Amino acid sequence: MAALDGLPPLRDVINRHGLDARKALGQNFLLDLNLTQKIARTAGPLDGVTVFEVGPGPGGLTRAILALGAKKVVAIERDPRCLPALQEISDHYPGRLSVIEGDALKINFAALAAEPPIRIIANLPYNVGTQLLLNWLLPSAWPPFWQSMTLMFQKEVGQRIVARADDNHYGRLGVICGWRTEAHMAFDVPPQAFTPPPKVTSTVVHMTPRAHPQECDVSKLETVTQAAFGQRRKMLRQSLKSIGGEALLARAGIDPQRRAETLSIDEFVTIADHLADGGRTNSITSPSATTFESDIAKDLDHS
Ligand code: SAM
Repeated sequence: MAALDGLPPLRDVINRHGLDARKALGQNFLLDLNLTQKIARTAGPLDGVTVFEVGPGPGGLTRAILALGAKKVVAIERDPRCLPALQEISDHYPGRLSVIEGDALKINFAALAAEPPIRIIANLPYNVGTQLLLNWLLPSAWPPFWQSMTLMFQKEVGQRIVARADDNHYGRLGVICGWRTEAHMAFDVPPQAFTPPPKVTSTVVHMTPRAHPQECDVSKLETVTQAAFGQRRKMLRQSLKSIGGEALLARAGIDPQRRAETLSIDEFVTIADHLADGGRTNSITSPSATTFESDIAKDLDHS
């Protein structure tokens, strides 16, 4: 059955261009155009909007975004095998799709943001998803270049992004995301919706930037959350010992007997504000996903 946009069905596109999915590139394709439209619609009205998409693959989500009226899509794809398929979409929507072949981790997205408003929509490759999210979340300039982000993650990552105090999934990712954004999980996507199916359920997360997040030095917030959640079952006076312990907590007005998972995001920011410059455990200056990922890797299957 032909697709509504007049382009060939995605399964034909994949067969014709020999796009057998490669695990190393996190390739789990969405072939159901109703589902890709549902993801694109979660981003809100797209008329007049420039969309940045990471990993268009054979172009299912790209087609939905264009069909819903985005002014332009800038898509970054690492796999050169996908380029001919994307060229067909570009020919179908003249002047509205530009594809950059390359690694999204090396792209300066802010420098590409010439035509606002900009929204980011992506079915992310899971192996780089958290790092990309942090790159978009943690620039020193705020508000950021993007107006919203609508991103597919493994469900466990989505749960960590939206988690708040006293939630089992609450941790460093929840603090960083909640500090700067309003985030919610829009809907789950079962494994069988993908080709090939991953082992885990996925979820679409929609995030908008907070206009005025509490002022905070990102590297200090990183230091405090790393120490606190590194020993999440211990009292803060113990888990924060190496960065100031009881004295730091007294300055911040936080009960030293509390545990990390009970602290609100505002309370973490308050502790970070009272952290002396010399009180850091290390010299983190640009936050990396490595430690976030090791936090969550335990129970995630990067399938
Ligand atoms: N958007 C398509 C869909 O929904 O069917 C494909 C999504 S698939 C989960 C992830 C895509 O990201 C693949 O096309 C893969 O080649 C691409 N990719 C993987 N690593 C990348 C990177 N570092 N930079 C850009 N694209 C990447």
